[in-house]
Amino acid sequence: MGMKAISAARLFDGTHYHHDAALIWNNDVIEAILPIAELPSDIEHQHYANALIAPGFIDLQVNGGGDVMFNSDISASAIETICHAHRKHGTAYLLPTLISSTPQDISQALTATEQAIEAHVPGVIGVHLEGPWLSKEKKGAHNAELFYSPTINDLADFPWPKQAKVLVTAAVENMSDETLDWLQQQGVTLSCGHSNATAAQLTPRKLSRIDGFTHLFNAMSAFEGREPGVIGTALHTDHAWCSIITDGIHVHPNNVMLAQKVKPAGKLLIVTDAMATLGSETNRFELDGQVIEVIDNKLVNSEGRLAGAHIGMDESVANVIAWGIDEAEALRMASTYPAQAMNLTQLGQLKPGYRAAATVLSNDYQSQAVLVDGQLL
Ligand SMILES: [Zn+2]
Repeated sequence: MGMKAISAARLFDGTHYHHDAALIWNNDVIEAILPIAELPSDIEHQHYANALIAPGFIDLQVNGGGDVMFNSDISASAIETICHAHRKHGTAYLLPTLISSTPQDISQALTATEQAIEAHVPGVIGVHLEGPWLSKEKKGAHNAELFYSPTINDLADFPWPKQAKVLVTAAVENMSDETLDWLQQQGVTLSCGHSNATAAQLTPRKLSRIDGFTHLFNAMSAFEGREPGVIGTALHTDHAWCSIITDGIHVHPNNVMLAQKVKPAGKLLIVTDAMATLGSETNRFELDGQVIEVIDNKLVNSEGRLAGAHIGMDESVANVIAWGIDEAEALRMASTYPAQAMNLTQLGQLKPGYRAAATVLSNDYQSQAVLVDGQLL
């Protein structure tokens, strides 16, 4: 591939802004950020007028896209389709997310993701297992008949991948301390979600095993005066990050702003929770035999319950900026912080030595192009 460059009026590297700047990379590694005027004349170079170059967006919760649900097509080619659909909305990397499923499907998801990474499918960095170790009281659109509390032997039977990062969302009140220890020893990132725990059930030992909380405010026990619930505990647990859906439907904008005030810097990050309808012409799909469709921009199942979101990362970023979050912080919530949450030390910033990944946005935050591992897509 050799040396290439993109440039724009503004470039945000994750910490600082650069004006009339170019991002130069060699193969799949960032080489430098230079003023456009200093670019070597022989370099292959694409300029984006009236645009902003930011660290490539990373979405830790993507159930589908491009008319494909990962749950319905658990394969490397489905992952490729989903990554392609989400690039239209600025996502450089994502975790295909398996909604509660059978042990057989979980094994297939772990294997398919590892295969996609081995095949260098652009944009996949791992897999998110959302359940089936969840709370029936907070099932959301999941099929509660699939829920169970696993033993270490149950967990050890799965083909845990070597290269793919793994994020597990579990209702930790239903998991033994030993299984949480075991997951942590496997290098799994653990997030508490779809949980009906009381604050007392989220013991210091359990909290010490949790890296984050999944889609803050949604599918978790409420915050009340005498009972912090999962919401209060998530807001109060400084070491744990919180992912949040910023479509303006799942969470009231004021609650997003409240979480942003309360969580320490770097601990609030954007996820889309997008489904097959993103980047697709159709507005309905099936999950576990039930039809889910877009009605008034909301994805709902036949009971009218919210079933994932119909939004991309670029719109999610635009929303939080419109609600009052500073642009630099919004861009970090979509890239730097999810990279940190998953321990992706070479992503989330535009710095020499980092993986060549960037999102190019128009002035109204629509994705113009995405750079993934040195490929401009
Ligand atoms: Zn969920």
